[in-house]
Formats: sequence, C-alpha cells, structure tokens
Amino acid sequence: MLKFWMAIFCCGLSVFSWSQSALDKLAVQYVKLGLHIGQYDGDFVDAYYGPDSLKPNSSKADQFPAEAFLRKIKSLRQKIKQAVSGKATTEELNRAGWMDDQLRAFAERVRMFKGQYHDFDTEAYELFGVIVPHHTESYFKNELEKLDKILPGKGTVAERFQQLANRFIVPPDKLDTVFKTAIHYSRKITKEHFVLPESEHCSLEFVKDKPWSGYNWYQGNYFSKVEINTDVNIFIERVVDVASHESYPGHHVYNLLLEENLYRRKHYVEVSLYPLFSPQSLIAEGSANYGVGLVFPEEERLKFCKEVLLPISGLDTLGLSTYFTALDLRDKLNYARNEVARQFLNGKMTEEEGLHWLQDYCLMSSEGAKKSISFIKKYRSYVINYNFGKDLVKRFVESGNKNREGYWKKFGFLLSHEIRIKNLEKDLSH
Ligand SMILES: [Zn+2]
Repeated sequence: MLKFWMAIFCCGLSVFSWSQSALDKLAVQYVKLGLHIGQYDGDFVDAYYGPDSLKPNSSKADQFPAEAFLRKIKSLRQKIKQAVSGKATTEELNRAGWMDDQLRAFAERVRMFKGQYHDFDTEAYELFGVIVPHHTESYFKNELEKLDKILPGKGTVAERFQQLANRFIVPPDKLDTVFKTAIHYSRKITKEHFVLPESEHCSLEFVKDKPWSGYNWYQGNYFSKVEINTDVNIFIERVVDVASHESYPGHHVYNLLLEENLYRRKHYVEVSLYPLFSPQSLIAEGSANYGVGLVFPEEERLKFCKEVLLPISGLDTLGLSTYFTALDLRDKLNYARNEVARQFLNGKMTEEEGLHWLQDYCLMSSEGAKKSISFIKKYRSYVINYNFGKDLVKRFVESGNKNREGYWKKFGFLLSHEIRIKNLEKDLSH
C-alpha cells in the first residue's frame, strides 16, 4: 500500500476547490489568533514572516483574556472541521487536520500561560501530540555500565567522562571560526541533496545569559539569525551538533523549505506563523537533531573534528575516538532529561535531585546541569522534542529505505510538508 507520505505527495497536484478557499480564509484566522495570543505570551510565536496586516492592530488588554482565546480556538477548530466535511482532497484533509492539531496546542499553551498546568505527559500530548515513553533508573544504570568499561582514568563514570570531555573544549577566541567552518561544511553537504533558493543565508552571533545552547530566529525570505550561547563551555561535538541543528539541514532549511513550498508556491498562510509550543516543534527539533547525523555519519563526524575542527581550535586529537564512542553511548542516556523534567514538573523530584540526575545520568557538567534545569523551568515538556522527536523522525525517514540518498529524499519530504504527528506514527506502524 502507499505510504502516507507518498499519498500526500501524489495529491500535490490537486485542483483548487471550495474547501481550499474556505481553508485559506480559516488559515488567516489561525494566524491572526496565534499572533494575538503572542501579544501576551512572549514565547508563543517563534517566527512569523507573513503579512503585517494579520498582526494585532490594537494594544493588549490589562488582563490575559484566556477564556476568550479558548472560545475562539474552539470555534475555529469547528469551522475547520466543517470546511472539509464535504468533498475534500487528501491534501485538504491533511491541511485541516494539521491546523486542528496546532490549535489543540494553542489551547494547552493558553491554559498554561494563565497558570493552569496538566501533568507532564498530558501536557506533552496536548502540545506536541505524542505519548512519551518512560524509562526507569535501572535503564540508565545499565547504559552507564557500558560507559564505565571504556572510559579511562579514576573516579565515577560522570567524573571520568568530564575529564575526557574537558580536553575538547573549544577556546572562546576560536569559536567564531570553528562554528563558521562547521556551518559552511553542513551547507555544502546539504546542497548536494537539496536545491536551496539562491538568496538563502544565515547570520551567526554569540550571546550570553540564555537558557538554551543555540537558537535559530527565522526571519522569512530564506534568512535565519543563528545565535550561539557562550555561557557554558562549548565542546567540539557541540559545534557540529549545534551548527547543523540550527542551520543546515536543521531549522534554517526546515523553515525555508516550508516557506518556499507551502507559503510561496501554495499560499498556505498558516505556515508563516511558527508557534513554538506546537506539534510543529516535534518535527522541527526531531529533524534538526536527526539531520546532524545525515550530514555527519559517525565516521565523518570523527574525521571532520579530527582533521578540521580540532586543528583550527588548537586542540590535541589524543583520546578523540574514545570520546566519540562515549558520546554515542551517552546519547542513549539523554532520555534521563525527560525523566528529570517529568518528575521535577510533577513535583516528584527536587531541583537538587534533578541536578544530580543530570550530572550522573546525562553526564553533564555542574554548570551544564544548572543550565538544563533553567531550560526545563522555562520550556517544560518541550524537552521531549529533542530525543523522542529525533527517534520518531529517524524511524520515519529510515523505514523502507536502504540507502543514504533515500534518507535525504524522505527527509526532504518531511521538511517541506505539513506533517501530522499521528500520520507519522501511523506510517511507522505499517
Ligand atoms: Zn532546535
């Protein structure tokens, strides 16, 4: 049978219909509503590059009008369902369903902003559309034992990992060159697989006092401002990860492909608004993390760091292979951050205990763990997008595909369409 992504792809040539015109109008209301909520909640809108005419034309009220927003969301969801209740193409049904999923997240975020919180798992489902797996402490202990066997030196696994990692901290005065080199390479590899608009580009800036390690601020017109936080030490692998994640084929490419394929070609105005706490972020973060491995398959990442980035940084390459093996094993441990977030936000773990977990199981430095807790406090269940999102994207892209070219092709599809999480999961179950 046709996989869902093929089904949507094949329907790309659908003719203009009544449902489409109705959806176009409702998409305008969707954007207006999102921008209006964003007038109050400063983290609601991650990017917007649509027309100025859809921005709120009055100043905000003294009080956050949560109930009015919830009523508007409910009503818009009903209108969207009605718009495709008659004759509608597969693509129109998908578009309506995609907006409906996003609006479910709007409602949850409005409730959160007025101070009403669900438990962690319900919040993650309402915002991102997924049921997140749970892991026990014994799972992480087992994974730690594997690291115990390969790490040199004396002390706990966390201490030995830090000792090894500390050899690969990029000196601050080399960060600019090292990041630009990594972004340049990621762009070159991405362009071997995707045709990108000629005018596309990214700027790079270093900032401080942020809860995140890097951020892509998409500006529209195929341009991104990438910011890298230098509050904490930056290890060599983070250069590769963050550069690729924020730019090529990560957030920058995802945003520009949506803009090119959906906003400009099909006039889908809804994609000009990127609401941060929405299922779109599961795809955004999952694809940005998965894309790092597409540009840098394991052996390539090691080679690039050894032959290019470490020499530029003036760092010795001794111990790099062991470090990268340890990093791969540590990857399996990053679900521990979800457990910290879940238990901390559900009131089952103190901040102190959370810091210990992050150091013992995620092998973070104490400064890294503090940063991670401040991220959890601000972004809450958003943390699941990085690991569970990546695993979902990986399974989707690699299922039924045997070679790397096939991965890039399906990855490109994922970055250029309105992907509903439930369809992504359904596709995997076949
Ligand atoms: Zn990201």
